[in-house]
Amino acid sequence: MVSNLASKAEKHMVWNIRYLHMLVARCITKKLTVISKHYTLRKIKASVYQYFLFLFTVFFVCFVIVGCNVKANIQTITDIQPTVLLISFDGFRWDYLTKADIPNLDNLIADGVKAKSLIPVFPSKTFPNHYTIVTGLYTDNHGIIANTMYDPEFDATFTLQDRKAVEDGRWWGGEPLWVTAEKQGQITASMFWPGSEAEIKGIRPTYWKRFDRNFSYDQRVDQVLSWFSLKVENRPTFITLYFEGTDTQGHINGPESPQVKAAIREVDNALGILLNGLKQRGIYENVNIIIVSDHGMTSINPKKTIFIDDYVDLSDVEIIDWSPVTGLRPSQSNNEKVYNSLVNAHPNLTIYRKKEIPEHFHYRNHRRIAPIIAVADEGWSISSHSWLTGGKAFLKGTHGYDYRLPSMHGIFIASGPDFKQGLVIESFQNIHIYNLIAHILGLKPAPNDGDFNLIQSTLNSEQSE
Ligand SMILES: [Zn+2]
Repeated sequence: MVSNLASKAEKHMVWNIRYLHMLVARCITKKLTVISKHYTLRKIKASVYQYFLFLFTVFFVCFVIVGCNVKANIQTITDIQPTVLLISFDGFRWDYLTKADIPNLDNLIADGVKAKSLIPVFPSKTFPNHYTIVTGLYTDNHGIIANTMYDPEFDATFTLQDRKAVEDGRWWGGEPLWVTAEKQGQITASMFWPGSEAEIKGIRPTYWKRFDRNFSYDQRVDQVLSWFSLKVENRPTFITLYFEGTDTQGHINGPESPQVKAAIREVDNALGILLNGLKQRGIYENVNIIIVSDHGMTSINPKKTIFIDDYVDLSDVEIIDWSPVTGLRPSQSNNEKVYNSLVNAHPNLTIYRKKEIPEHFHYRNHRRIAPIIAVADEGWSISSHSWLTGGKAFLKGTHGYDYRLPSMHGIFIASGPDFKQGLVIESFQNIHIYNLIAHILGLKPAPNDGDFNLIQSTLNSEQSE
């Protein structure tokens, strides 16, 4: 609808400009004839100046008219329901907020609530954490225990590149917010989010998109704004929006690189376009906007590599996910042999039998967690000689480490009618966001690991559950 209105305005603009061109051309021809007959050179100069001034004025007026037309065609929304727009800046480390000029994020923070940082769940990887944010569940309880995983019951492997697996609901446990909302009669939309492409409990968001990196930031923002412009009976009350640039540049160039700074400015700019669109529709102050990131980022280099094949015969184990958390699946008879070879092998590598993984990791019950887990210290990578000599490029940044490391922490910023203004809160874990959003939307939350009491202080007048 918005694009229809915009294209009408553009047609209007084209006709306005054509008409003015014609008018100006006629005036110039007529006047030049008069000039050649009666005017001196000095007068001609003065006339030329006057005509440039005239042209400038005409075009200025023209652009003001066109600008007003475009704005006038965006309808003000007066019937907005309680709504949450959940935005993720992938891999946006908590201190990126001080690394670049981010006027739009700064405005949102001044208008709302900011946490010192958002603590991820273990492992601090993209899919596990995005799915925790929308389910309120630890990885152990929702089953997305890594970006790459093996399920012994399905005898199948899940990877981010495998569209069939990503869109297969059997991998996704728990109940994401869009399912909770749709079950309770609300409309939801996803402009990308891990899990939103799968039918979970038989339900997908009413509107959803298959992930496509080539879908530009502008197109994503435009899509979200067009959902807002739908009639109230079709308009979603819960919308997700995702930007990956900060993560991509953090991996390729490292978290301290100028490319990451540029990526920070780029997401801030996209946010600015979005906020402006909400203001044009008169709903900036009516929409609850929550900005999160799934994890942080830390620098890595090839000198800090732990070669698993220095200690273990790779033919004795199956390794599905490599670094910085490695899941090793030895054959039953090799279990203790592999464990003993690794347990004190390297000073920067911690080895756990599955049942001995510390409880606070909430990472030891799910069948997809491998029998032996290796966790690298911050900045260290786990690899094999054959992999590194295979010509693969070594990245300059990564994440996935112990969730307690500050470098693994992300951001939480929230602003809107339900949030307090100018509040900074302590760091908290992302399992609590599900309950917060369910509360704002008036939904009965599904069972989850979060605690609404720990986060309700962010809300106006500390609304009770
Ligand atoms: Zn990520």
